[in-house]
Amino acid sequence: MILAIVLSAVAMTLIVGLRYLATSGAFAGLTRWRHPGLYQGLDPQMRREIWWSLASAGIYGVPAGIVAWGWRTHGWTRVYTDVHAYPLWMLPVSVLAFLLLHDAWFYWTHRWMHRPEPFRVAHALHHASRPPTAWAAMAFHPIEALTGAVVIPLLVFVIPIHVGALGLVLTIMTVMGVTNHMGWEIFPRFLWSGPLGDWLITASHHQRHHERYGCNYGLYFRHWDRLCGTDQGIGDFARDHARAAARARRVGGGDAADRGRGTGRPA
Ligand SMILES: [Zn+2]
Ligand SMILES: [Zn+2]
Repeated sequence: MILAIVLSAVAMTLIVGLRYLATSGAFAGLTRWRHPGLYQGLDPQMRREIWWSLASAGIYGVPAGIVAWGWRTHGWTRVYTDVHAYPLWMLPVSVLAFLLLHDAWFYWTHRWMHRPEPFRVAHALHHASRPPTAWAAMAFHPIEALTGAVVIPLLVFVIPIHVGALGLVLTIMTVMGVTNHMGWEIFPRFLWSGPLGDWLITASHHQRHHERYGCNYGLYFRHWDRLCGTDQGIGDFARDHARAAARARRVGGGDAADRGRGTGRPA
């Protein structure tokens, strides 16, 4: 039994690690194509981001692996496989509930980690990426990784969710984690600007968190920030891109960098 639990934890760690490498790698490749030179000169930082993200994969993988083992062998959790086990409206409602609760947990733990002492110990590492890249998605100190790792494994015991809907939640979590740190806006303008953008978080919103620190703490939605007066609107990538161009010129390859210079937020 112990062996089966260990194997499940190892398997889940590998899945999380490979999922990270594939997703961040894909979006880093896309960045190279859309904004050549944006990450130029950041190799040591990106190596650090990858190292800490892979360490986080173990911290995410172990609780997830234990719960997955319990689900398969003992029927733990409220994850179901028969889509008709609950009314169909449970599919969107469960996804939304998971995202809202994860967002609330993230907002308050993130705000706590911006208090001086927790920041120094647990969160400065994430902010050491200046500016973050697509590889920074899971670049967390183990304490911060642990606060994130418990959320989904606990929620699956509380809220019934179809295994496919859970897959969608994990996909949204992974893609938003990467794109929010990528250094440019990949989503269409209506998602981050205008009425919908007032409530949703994409890279433009999280960019401002990395620029100013004491604001924009949310993960998927802006309501906690707005309710608590910590929302300072969305950021702008023009300055980051101008800095990237200057950095690229310093390390050589100015031509490539100039093409991605000062483009602000391409839709
Ligand atoms: Zn922060
Ligand atoms: Zn961040």
